[in-house]
Amino acid sequence: MLNVPSQSFPAPSSQQRVVAGGRSKVPLKQGRSLMDWIRLTKSGKDLTGLKGRLIEVTEEELKKHDKKDDCWICIRGSKGFVYNVSPYMEYHPGGEDELMRAAGSDGTDLFDQVHRWVNYESMLKECLVGRMAVKPAAPKDYHEEKKVLNGMLPKSQATDTLAREGPSSPSYDWFQTDSLVTIVVYTKQKDITLDSVIVDHQDDSFRAETIIKDYSYLINIELSHAVQGDFSVRIVENVGKIEIVLKKKENTSWKCLGHPLENHNSLVPKKDAGLFYRQCQLISKEDVTHDTRLFCFMLPPSTHLQVPIGQHVYLKLTITDTEIVKPYTPVSDSLLSEFKEPALPNNKYIYFLIKIYPAGLFTPELDHLQIGDFVFVSNPEGNFKTSQFQELEDLFLLAAGTGFTPMVKLLNYALTNIPSLRKVKLMFFNKTEDDIIWRSHLEELTFKDKRFDVEFVLSAPISEWNGKQGHVSPALLSEFLKRSSDKSKVLICICGPTPFTEQGIKFLHELNFSKDEIHSFTA
Ligand code: FAD
Ligand code: NAP
Repeated sequence: MLNVPSQSFPAPSSQQRVVAGGRSKVPLKQGRSLMDWIRLTKSGKDLTGLKGRLIEVTEEELKKHDKKDDCWICIRGSKGFVYNVSPYMEYHPGGEDELMRAAGSDGTDLFDQVHRWVNYESMLKECLVGRMAVKPAAPKDYHEEKKVLNGMLPKSQATDTLAREGPSSPSYDWFQTDSLVTIVVYTKQKDITLDSVIVDHQDDSFRAETIIKDYSYLINIELSHAVQGDFSVRIVENVGKIEIVLKKKENTSWKCLGHPLENHNSLVPKKDAGLFYRQCQLISKEDVTHDTRLFCFMLPPSTHLQVPIGQHVYLKLTITDTEIVKPYTPVSDSLLSEFKEPALPNNKYIYFLIKIYPAGLFTPELDHLQIGDFVFVSNPEGNFKTSQFQELEDLFLLAAGTGFTPMVKLLNYALTNIPSLRKVKLMFFNKTEDDIIWRSHLEELTFKDKRFDVEFVLSAPISEWNGKQGHVSPALLSEFLKRSSDKSKVLICICGPTPFTEQGIKFLHELNFSKDEIHSFTA
C-alpha cells in the first residue's frame, strides 16, 4: 500500500488509476509526490498535533480517530506504533480511500497485503503518535531465555505452536574441534538445497535463516567467541541437514555457542518473518539498452545467499534521509552463462537488469551510485518453485519490458536441468527494437539450443519492422502457444506491467489454460 510515487505529476482529471513502475496508483496532485512528502516531514511542522510528545494509545482512543482530517492507524497489532496519517493522505499513491480503510484501527494487514517491505517507519516517522498501550500479559518464565546456548535449546512455546501447523519442528545443535565450530540445522525435510539457507555473520552476531516450505526457521546468536569472516555451508540433502562450519579465531574450547538474539530458534510463517538486509558493494555497471543497465553487486564475504530461481529481493537506499525500498529480480551475468565459464564466481555476486526511469524515485539514485558504493540487499521472496518444472515438456514465457528479468534464470535452469523439456518459447513485448534487452543473446541462444525460440512483439515499431506488432492479445497468444503434443505438460510464465500481466492471464484462461499451467510474477 505505501509504495512510493515519483516526483510530480499533472493534476488528475478524475480518480482514475494509472500504472507506473509495476502497479496501479492513483494519480497524485501537483506537489504531492514522495519527494514533496519528504520535504514536508523535514520542514519542522508538527504533523501529529502533539508537539513532539509520544503517548500511549488505548484501543478506545484509537477508534475515535477515524476521520479523514483526524485519522490514526496502528501498525503491528497490540505492540504496534500508532501514526496520525491525516497529513499524509494526499501523498499516498494508493489514494485516500485505501488509507481510510484502516482509519482508527489496525492497518497491518492492509499494509502487508500490498507492499509489506515498504518502510513506513521511516516514511511516517514524523507522524508517530506513540505506541499502543499494552494490556497486562500473563507472567512469563524468563528462566529459559536467560540460559546460555550450550547445544540444543528447549523449544519455545511459540515455536511448538507454529510447528504443529507448519513443517515438523526443526532444531539445531553444535559441536567443535580445536579450530572449527559446526552449527547443524536439522530441517526434517528432504527438499533442502543451498538456496534454502541464508547465513550472515556480522561482528559477533550470527544469523542463519532456513526456508522450510512456507516457513522460516531462524538461528540468531551472539557468538561467545570470535570467528573468522568466511565460513562454509554444506547440505546433506537426503536427511535435510545443514552444516555451517565456522573457523575459530583462537583455538580455545568454547563452553557455549553464545547468547540468543531476537527471535532465535523460532519457526514462523515466511510472510511474518522480517526482511533482513546486508550491504553489498557495486562492482560494475554496464549499458544493456539506452535505458537499462546490468548492475553487479558483491555480497559481503560473511554472507551466504543464493536467490532461488524466479524470486526477487529488495534493494534499499536512503534518499533524502528516508529509506526507500524497491523489488528487483536477480539475473545471471549473461543469458548464455550456462554455456560458458562465469567471469566471476557465481555465489559471491548478484546481478540485476534495471531500467532507469528519469522521473522515477529510486532508479535515478541507483544510477548515480559509483563503483565501490553500497546498497542494502534483502533476503529473497517470491512464490515460484522449480517443482513446477517437473516432467515439463513445453515452457512458454511471456515478458514485457523488464518483466524479462525473472525469465533469465528460468530459461537457463530449464534448458540445463529439465530432461523432459521439448520446447521453450519466449514472446517478448517491447515498445521499439532499441528497448529489447539482450536481443543478441536471445538470438544466439536459438542457434545454441534448438528447443529454444524467441518472438519479438513491438508496440511502437518503425515502419520497416517486419516482425509482430501490437499488444498482448488472444490472437497473438493462440498462434504462439502451440503444445508439442495434445497432452504435453505445459507451463506459461508471465511478467510485465501489472495490466499486461492481468490481461495476459485473462486471455490464457479464455484459451483454456488452467490455473496450474500459468505462473505470474508479481510483487
Ligand atoms: P517510480 O518512482 O516508481 O516511477 C516509475 C515511472 O512511473 C516513472 O516514469 C514515473 O514518472 C511514473 N510514476 C510514478 N508514480 C506515478 C503516479 N502516481 N502517476 C503517474 N506516473 C507515475 N524493475 C527492473 O528494472 N528490473 C527488475 O529486475 C525488476 N524486478 C521487479 C520485481 C518485482 C517483484 C516488482 C514488483 C517490480 C520489479 N521491478 C523491476 C520494478 C521496480 O521495482 C521499480 O518499480 C522500478 O525500478 C521503478 O522504480 P522508480 O522508483 O525508479 O520509479
Ligand atoms: P514498458 O517498456 O513500458 O512496456 C513493455 C511493453 O508492454 C510495451 O510494448 C508496452 O506497450 C506493453 N504494455 C504496457 N502496458 C500494457 C498494458 N496495459 N497492456 C498491454 N501491454 C502493455 O515496460 P517497462 O517500463 O519495462 O516495465 C516493466 C514492468 O514489469 C514494470 O512495471 C515492472 O514493475 C514489472 N516487473 C515485474 C516483475 C515482477 O513482478 N516479478 C519483475 C520485473 C519487472 P506500450 O508501448 O503501449 O506501453
